[in-house]
Amino acid sequence: MNRLVNKADFPSAFLVWKFDWLYIPSLIEGADEVFEFPMVDRDPLPRWSFGRITLLGDAAHPMYPIGSNGASQAILDAEALAESLAVTSDVPTALRQYESQRLPITAGVVHSNRQMGPEAVMQIVEERAPKGFNNLDDVITREELEQVAAQYKIIAGFDRDSVNRGSRTSPFAADRA
Ligand SMILES: Cc1cc2nc3c(=O)[nH]c(=O)nc-3n(C[C@H](O)[C@H](O)[C@H](O)COP(=O)(O)OP(=O)(O)OC[C@H]3O[C@@H](n4cnc5c(N)ncnc54)[C@H](O)[C@@H]3O)c2cc1C
Repeated sequence: MNRLVNKADFPSAFLVWKFDWLYIPSLIEGADEVFEFPMVDRDPLPRWSFGRITLLGDAAHPMYPIGSNGASQAILDAEALAESLAVTSDVPTALRQYESQRLPITAGVVHSNRQMGPEAVMQIVEERAPKGFNNLDDVITREELEQVAAQYKIIAGFDRDSVNRGSRTSPFAADRA
């Protein structure tokens, strides 16, 4: 991840990537640095909503691709936004309510993903068994694996209590029943 590569190594594969509005080899040529498997995110924003405009998904909280979470969090944003608009007729107020519900949670996922999120278990195993292993159970216990997964589910809002709570309090609960 984030390995610097020689940018002369690969433009030849993109020579025919020529659009009316963009010539990819020039884009590569003009880049200061090129990385293999770059990890790119942004610090959480202080706010998403401005009057009747708000942000959602990657525009609001681009995160490292850890824990299969970018699209999942965008869907949870959309659900929260729809619910907020359904119960609050004043749009700027609804957008601020949506933001106050979702911004802290997604900021937690952004920060957690910088620490590898649920994939931290791979780092733990690598550190404990740098020369490899025959049996995973000798390196990490099932309880440890489940604990890391359970902790990340709580941060991401995928744990059973959060999902059940959301389905009970949603103004769309009756539609789902
Ligand atoms: C390789 C890869 C693997 C991934 N795997 C997973 C996974 O397993 N699980 C998961 O949950 N997430 C995954 N993600 C992350 C996920 O794809 C994103 O988090 C998600 O697509 C964000 O959705 P979005 O609607 O916010 O943004 P986008 O999907 O980026 O949608 C934005 C849209 O806006 C359009 N657009 C941009 N500018 C304009 C403009 N000026 N006018 C009109 N339209 C515009 C774009 O063309 C695009 O269609 C992965 C991402 C990548 C790159």
